[in-house]
Amino acid sequence: MIKENLDMVQNHIASAASKAGRKAEEVTLIAVSKTKPVSMIEEAYACGCRDFGENKVQELCEKYEVLPKDIRWHLIGHLQRNKVKYVVDKAYLIHSVDSLRLAEEIRKEAEKKQVHVNILIEVNMAGEESKFGVSPDEVENLVREVAKFPNIHIQGLMTIAPVVEKPEDNAVHFANLRQLSVDITKKNIDNVNMNVLSMGMTGDYEQAVKDGATCVRVGTGIFGER
Ligand SMILES: *Cc1c(COP(=O)(O)O)cnc(C)c1O
Repeated sequence: MIKENLDMVQNHIASAASKAGRKAEEVTLIAVSKTKPVSMIEEAYACGCRDFGENKVQELCEKYEVLPKDIRWHLIGHLQRNKVKYVVDKAYLIHSVDSLRLAEEIRKEAEKKQVHVNILIEVNMAGEESKFGVSPDEVENLVREVAKFPNIHIQGLMTIAPVVEKPEDNAVHFANLRQLSVDITKKNIDNVNMNVLSMGMTGDYEQAVKDGATCVRVGTGIFGER
């Protein structure tokens, strides 16, 4: 079942990419394995999947301990400052940095562990009350501040789009996030990359690929309902 789902999602990504004049290889599929058992991750791993997404630090750490070390763990959920110390040396990419205070904590813990940390800035594109993330007009300031930390490397932007009936309804948010990353790229800020655009989930990843996503985060479409 997982193999069929992975094949299907990869095919959808490839066709959405080609419609947009992009290459499928430009898009990394992150298999969102939160709440799912290790055995299901092993199944996806056996199919060649190496990028997995978790939204809780404790769960990521537990899975990290028992699964192969070549897995790239993506922390996609909200990160509390008191959990930073557990995850800085385990996450390949932290997608959810949305405040200077959080970045300062990451800097401190990364220094203790002598590691460098790759992060994305999470942006609340639709201004939803219930969502974390900075507002689009706060992004540049936060990027400029975090860029001063030598052991943190901003790789791009992430958004969690609203739940909508039609994926096209999120096109505006995806396009705006992409434009934001283009605008920031033009500022040529030291220690800042805008190579990664993490957007799109099971309901709207094809739309996100059309609009320039380089990472899509798919859980239900691979592992089934949670
Ligand atoms: C759970 C989650 C996903 C995956 O959601 P699905 O709809 O199951 O694909 C993607 N991104 C984030 C941040 C999540 O928490």
